[in-house]
Amino acid sequence: MSSLRFRVVEKAFQTKAREFSIPEERPSEYFGKYVFNREKMFKYLPGDVFAKLVDVIDNGAALDSGIADEVASGMKRWAMELGATHYTHWFQPLTEGTAEKHDAFVEHNGKGGMMEEFSGKLLVQQEPDASSFPNGGIRNTFEARGYSAWDPSSPVFVVDDTLCIPTIFISYTGESLDYKTPLLKALRAMNKAAVDVCHYFDPSVKKVFSYLGWEQEYFLVDEGLYAARPDLLLTGRTLMGHEASKNQQLEDHYFGAIPIRVAAFMKDLEIQALELGIPVKTRHNEVAPNQFELAPIYEECNLAVDHNMLIMSLMRKVARAHGFRVLLHEKPFKGINGSGKHNNWSLGTDNGIALMAPGKTAEENLRFITFIVNTLMAVYRHNGLLKASIMSATNAHRLGANEAPPAIISSFLGTQLSQVLDHLEVSTDEDMGVLVGKHGMKLDIPQIPELLIDNTDRNRTSPFAFTGNRFEFRAVGSEANCASAMIALNTAMAEQLTDFKRDVDEAMSDDVSKETAILQVLRRYIKTCKPIRFDGNGYSEEWKAEAARRGLDCETSCPVIFDNYLSESSVRMFTSTGVMTKVELEARNEVKWETYTKKIQIEARVLGDLAMNHIVPVATHYQSMLINNVYRLKELFDASEAEGMSAENISLIREIAERTAYIKKHVDDMVEARKVANRIDNVREKAIAYHDTIAPMLEQIRYHIDKLELIVDDQMWTLPKYRELLFIR
Ligand code: ADP
Ligand code: MG
Repeated sequence: MSSLRFRVVEKAFQTKAREFSIPEERPSEYFGKYVFNREKMFKYLPGDVFAKLVDVIDNGAALDSGIADEVASGMKRWAMELGATHYTHWFQPLTEGTAEKHDAFVEHNGKGGMMEEFSGKLLVQQEPDASSFPNGGIRNTFEARGYSAWDPSSPVFVVDDTLCIPTIFISYTGESLDYKTPLLKALRAMNKAAVDVCHYFDPSVKKVFSYLGWEQEYFLVDEGLYAARPDLLLTGRTLMGHEASKNQQLEDHYFGAIPIRVAAFMKDLEIQALELGIPVKTRHNEVAPNQFELAPIYEECNLAVDHNMLIMSLMRKVARAHGFRVLLHEKPFKGINGSGKHNNWSLGTDNGIALMAPGKTAEENLRFITFIVNTLMAVYRHNGLLKASIMSATNAHRLGANEAPPAIISSFLGTQLSQVLDHLEVSTDEDMGVLVGKHGMKLDIPQIPELLIDNTDRNRTSPFAFTGNRFEFRAVGSEANCASAMIALNTAMAEQLTDFKRDVDEAMSDDVSKETAILQVLRRYIKTCKPIRFDGNGYSEEWKAEAARRGLDCETSCPVIFDNYLSESSVRMFTSTGVMTKVELEARNEVKWETYTKKIQIEARVLGDLAMNHIVPVATHYQSMLINNVYRLKELFDASEAEGMSAENISLIREIAERTAYIKKHVDDMVEARKVANRIDNVREKAIAYHDTIAPMLEQIRYHIDKLELIVDDQMWTLPKYRELLFIR
């Protein structure tokens, strides 16, 4: 019965590492080979066009339609030399992936033949039929027009035979239908607010960048085994499967030697990533078996987001070439760690100052403390929203599930930085005033040696940890678009820095120096945002109670957490910064609720199918064999002897009967519960119904299936088991 399972397991065991081509050049030589970067722009564009385009990229100058044709023509020439025949606007709709529609360069030449053509108009703007992308009701199908517009701040690149142009995607009436539009607006708002604050310390600052360095965790599974698991195939996670006797308890996988087959995949992936200009740097085994991590050197946030989207699709492609499937789902396997995507985030200026790194002088440290405290304030004020920004049906399996970050946002600072803030909190104006007066810039700010901070104790349970020169937002899901978290965080920072500037300006007077005013405001903030600081164990029960006392958002229901986007403080934050309108927020929430419902719905269907046509039949078949055995024993032996010999089997027969009955009944109940939920019109209420009634049933049914897996004859079991999925290379 399960010959397929044994065949795929055997094949997976025997699969050798694949060959792949290693470039003859060094990485520094092939880095960015397929990217139209500055070097290429310089080579393929006329001098004046190059200068104008650089102005557009660096200073956000408007794109002069006069140069668009020449830019497009240069791009086309470069792309065609690499073998490209098509181009596409590449955008990030409100699904977890990217979207593209390829058009060939060909046009009629007017003489009955064809020619390669790519105009500025096609580069700059297009109108893909947008009606089938999630839009939360912003457009009805009869008003399907939306358009994509080039984002010159992210360079175009070639994948296979296609020139890919990063674009934003908006409705005809201007509402954003993607992740990039609000991200660019958030970055612009943050830049403006942060530059203003920087001017307290350095009037020459012109621009503040938001930096993002993501760490991408993922699982690899042999593709034959993957294909034999319909749940993995259709939902990205295993909906059933008993824990293997050995999983991660020995902690022997973390940083262990990378298996040869996996190493080949990683090398191939890295080469292709570098060719696409993604500066990948770090790779290692993660905690769980078959779990790995990949991290690049951090980049400007918008580019880093694009690169993460690109690498996720590259990973899928390269994995298949190596006979693997990559699992980006946050929780593919029960009982072992899930995958996250730590978002390392910091701010830095155009003149090279890292705003979240301690400095050497008191003045530098005042600036450092200013940005740290404002970050804490932003996170404190919007902790519920930040949680909503990383929440999804899939990431819900990680959050609060006694691993990875808890479902409460708090920030870990480490002993040293905590002490500095505590010290500032209790200091008085007099301390400060005297010192400022006497020594000019010599403020009473403790020296903070950079090295020490860099080695601060790590707290793996903290969802938002300070790590020396950046904050690490760990709660982001492995499958998510980083933009969601980055939009919320940078917008919160924009609002907070704007408020800070206003507060400091108000506090300054003839008697109160700028430094004193800054310290006064910071001291107040340190007191206000104290509830967000937590250095203890984020997984503990005590913390849940304590966090509730502190007034932090402790909600655990995914669809209810989404409400945070529509709270008064969130709407004020997004609208005052010009990042999103109320209509956009409402539409996006509709998409979130709908997506949530659909994901649970699909899981429920798949589990129902598998239960009824894999598990119950196999269990029943095994049960029949046992029954047969019981009868045969009766024929061979006298009644009392046969009874004694059959006792074990009879209890197994009973257990199988009970569990299969339970499974059948609950699959029926789940269908009924879906019918009830599906009749609810309100998308939010429907999502809540799916969360409250259907999601728990998945777990209950699974429980009995996993118990059956332990007693049914291994020969008969059709689905590859955890021990096979997780330990084969
Ligand atoms: P760890 O696992 O110790 O957190 P990794 O090396 O796996 O460290 O990843 C750290 C990530 O943080 C990398 O992507 C790195 O580029 C990024 N990073 C380092 N410094 C900064 C910074 N100042 N701002 C943003 N990201 C940073
Ligand atoms: Mg990290």
